[in-house]
Formats: sequence, C-alpha cells, structure tokens
Amino acid sequence: MKLILIGIQGSGKSTQGNLLTEKLQVPYLSTGHIFRTLAQEKTPLGRYIKETMNAGFLIPDEKTLEIVREYLSRPEYKNGYILDGFPRTIKQAEEFKNGVDKVVYLKVSDKEALWRLSFRNSDREDDTLTAIKKRIELFHKFTEPVIDYYRQNNMLVEVNGENSIEDIFKEILEKLSLQ
Ligand code: ADP
Repeated sequence: MKLILIGIQGSGKSTQGNLLTEKLQVPYLSTGHIFRTLAQEKTPLGRYIKETMNAGFLIPDEKTLEIVREYLSRPEYKNGYILDGFPRTIKQAEEFKNGVDKVVYLKVSDKEALWRLSFRNSDREDDTLTAIKKRIELFHKFTEPVIDYYRQNNMLVEVNGENSIEDIFKEILEKLSLQ
C-alpha cells in the first residue's frame, strides 16, 4: 500500500507513520528527514538546504521532486511506503502520481499544534519559534490546497488528529478498511 500522510506541524504524522509502517510492513519515508541528512553535507547543495530549512522555507519543487523520485525508485519502495512531508505544494502533488492509494489527513487546529510543539523535545536545528511559525504559515498557504486536491480526487481520508494516539490509529485503520 502506498500512503501519504498530511497534516500541520505537530499533528502526529511521524507517530502515526511509524505505527502504520509496523502494521503494513512497508517502509516509512520522510522528506524532512532526507533534507536534514542532506543539510549536513559540506557541499553547496547541503549548505543551501540547511539555510532554507533553518528559515522555515520550502525547498524548491523541482529539487524536492527529483530527490523524492530518486528515493522511490529504489527497490525497497516498490511494494509500498508511508510518505510523510510530501507533497507539500500543488505542483508537487500534480507532478507526483506513483500509484498512491490514499492520503491520510491528520486534522489538528493551529492552537493544539502550537501547544504540542512548545513541549516537543527537539534537537532539530529548524525547531526555532520563528521557523516553526513560518512552516505553519506555509502549511496554510501551500499545503491546504493539496488537501483539497486529494479530496477532489476522492483519495482523502480525514481523521481527527486531536484524539489519543491509539484512537487516531484505530480511526485510520478503520477508514482504510484495514480493520
Ligand atoms: P515539519 O513537519 O515540522 O514542517 P519536516 O521535517 O516535514 O518538518 O520538514 C522540515 C523542512 O524540510 C521544511 O521546512 C522544508 O524546508 C523541508 N521540506 C520537507 N519536505 C518538503 C517538501 N515536500 N517540499 C519542500 N520542502 C520540504
């Protein structure tokens, strides 16, 4: 099964992604994680990615698409994956098809998201208040249209991301007819 997880910062995508990976026995792939690894490289690309991320901005679509395509062409992703953090813009969604089955939207309010993020123990260099606020702003501006796009394509599964971890996971499985 090929799944996309979508939701505001702090909505619990990686928590649910890891549970889904275990349940479905397909790998989990996070573009944020890929970019954080690339940002450590002492190359012009590495330095560019680091600066962009630390400001809370998005990596340009073409670069992001190229990197995601390269990863997903690897044999371990052939039979399925859980994708977190991508697509984040309409252009990424339109250019990326790849036989995705469903898109799970973890719905959480800004207030709850900010509350959770303020308690998150993070060692991420881009988890400064300024960068988080920027990412939330860009989520509303660029990623909410992506949610509408998948809704119109009948691919969206919407779950209440403000419940407990177990209840959210149950709701996802039910809505994907996996339980
Ligand atoms: P969060 O969920 O807190 O926003 P992520 O780990 O998903 O964090 O992303 C961290 C950063 O990685 C983003 O701010 C952005 O710079 C970059 N990034 C991740 N995914 C994408 C994407 N699909 N398109 C562009 N940039 C991305």
